[in-house]
Amino acid sequence: MSDDAKAPSGPDFTAGVALASLDDGALLQGHVGNDAVLLARRKEEFFAVGALCSHYHGPLADGIMVGDTVRCPWHHACFSLRTGEAMRAPAFDALPRWRVERQGDHVFVRQKIAASKPTPSESERRAWPESIVIVGGGAAGFAAAEMLRRRGYDRPVTLLSADADPPCDRPNLSKDYLAGTAQEAWIPLKSPKFYANRSIDLRLGTRVGAIDARNRRVTLGDGKTVDYGALLLATGAEPVQLALPGADGMPVFYLRTLADSRAIIAAAAGAKRAVVVGASFIGLEVAASLRARKLEVHVVAPATRPLEHVMGPEIGDAVRRLHEKNGVVFHLGETVAKIEGKTAHLSGGSTLAADFVVVGIGVRPATALAEAAGLATDKGVVVDAHLATSAPGIYAVGDIARWPDPQTGERIRIEHWVVAERQGQLAARNMLGAGERFDDVPFFWSQHYDMTINYVGHAARWDAIDIDGDIAANDASVTFRQAGRAAAVATIFRDRASLKAEAAMQQRAGVR
Ligand SMILES: Cc1cc2nc3c(=O)[nH]c(=O)nc-3n(C[C@H](O)[C@H](O)[C@H](O)COP(=O)(O)OP(=O)(O)OC[C@H]3O[C@@H](n4cnc5c(N)ncnc54)[C@H](O)[C@@H]3O)c2cc1C
Repeated sequence: MSDDAKAPSGPDFTAGVALASLDDGALLQGHVGNDAVLLARRKEEFFAVGALCSHYHGPLADGIMVGDTVRCPWHHACFSLRTGEAMRAPAFDALPRWRVERQGDHVFVRQKIAASKPTPSESERRAWPESIVIVGGGAAGFAAAEMLRRRGYDRPVTLLSADADPPCDRPNLSKDYLAGTAQEAWIPLKSPKFYANRSIDLRLGTRVGAIDARNRRVTLGDGKTVDYGALLLATGAEPVQLALPGADGMPVFYLRTLADSRAIIAAAAGAKRAVVVGASFIGLEVAASLRARKLEVHVVAPATRPLEHVMGPEIGDAVRRLHEKNGVVFHLGETVAKIEGKTAHLSGGSTLAADFVVVGIGVRPATALAEAAGLATDKGVVVDAHLATSAPGIYAVGDIARWPDPQTGERIRIEHWVVAERQGQLAARNMLGAGERFDDVPFFWSQHYDMTINYVGHAARWDAIDIDGDIAANDASVTFRQAGRAAAVATIFRDRASLKAEAAMQQRAGVR
């Protein structure tokens, strides 16, 4: 194949682009040789960076520009147009950059610019802790370790994880990986080399048993200790267990780790029927993935509608219909009362034959360690706007953290992948003295067959729902209002609307 045949689509930016075709705020995809490049205009400034998000390769030209950043349409990663830096997760790797030159009424993209390295000042370095220990090898813990090294922190970083596997793409465990359409090689967030090259001491299968906050020391399960200058707690959440009499007669699974997902896949291999308990995000994603594996799937849940408490009745009904169209059978307003052999007995008296059960009825924040160490807790670990806990030198992030949300003025705790990663990033910068406040607008997504729902904001309750478009036709924006204010917006295949809603909420809260 010739080089031309391999070249990505769009204009060749080395040949020049007419200024008249680039409005203020324009994001245009083209190429330089074989590299897909995004050319962006902000007033009289022009930027050229890689055109594909470094998270899942989303097309940045379909995103939006906010200030001098570009936001990815798929999972809202945010990149600096000036430096290419991945400023906000879920992307971590910087975009490549090219020099842009304006000549008359055209702009030309010239040579690639080498990535710059951080150069912390001596006074910054003096304020750094002697060492940093991170408890938890999930979204938040990984993002923190990555950010510490990205910012040039060159003292010991120890990442202690009870998980048997390295930090992984947890959202995928109920989606494509479980469905069999994502390879196992895609699941780790980074390869072992990443940790080795950055001298991140990743210790797997290592549970921290206690924190001695006064002496800045953690004790591991085997009695060994690790001293810290600063500590990050990122212990995540644990699945709520269902009391199921007779459960030893049939495999009953919970889903949090890669090992859990592997175990469900192994059980599905020889199975014909599965019962999923719970009709919220994880339960329904598991149901969809097991249908992709051609199992007969019954969803049993006490709710009268799936997802209603988060997404409202309209999306709940549409999601139910979609699952039913794909063969899922719902048993709502019920739960599994007991198991006898290969039979699940429902609370309403009926029975379902099954080869295994998956329970997805919510999670609880893993706060035991923090509580035992005397940290302030209140349905989560209480942190301030900088994500610092009540104990000096200890920060808490991710599913365990309850922080003051500038959008609502309330203290909230949220179980979202991107929120956990961004909190990990921010706490890492703050451990190095940045003094930043966590004011991001929460974002998550959920996937059901060909429907992806993006959700920005946080509406624990609402008094009105505005629907623009047609949910059933996979084309809608649904706004959850509280006292007239848009508290949250769920979109279905309206990625730009989701990004714009997020940007508007940030602006309202005075966030860049
Ligand atoms: C199957 C699944 C699908 C999901 N899908 C989505 C999605 O589509 N979108 C979305 O926004 N969110 C999704 N989530 C939620 C998201 O994954 C979590 O919000 C996120 O992982 C939280 O990050 P965290 O770092 O706080 O916790 P985790 O990622 O759970 O990491 C916690 C880590 O702490 C470790 N740990 C706990 N206690 C100790 C201890 N005492 N010592 C040492 N290590 C310890 C654990 O082993 C683990 O490594 C999903 C979650 C699951 C389970």
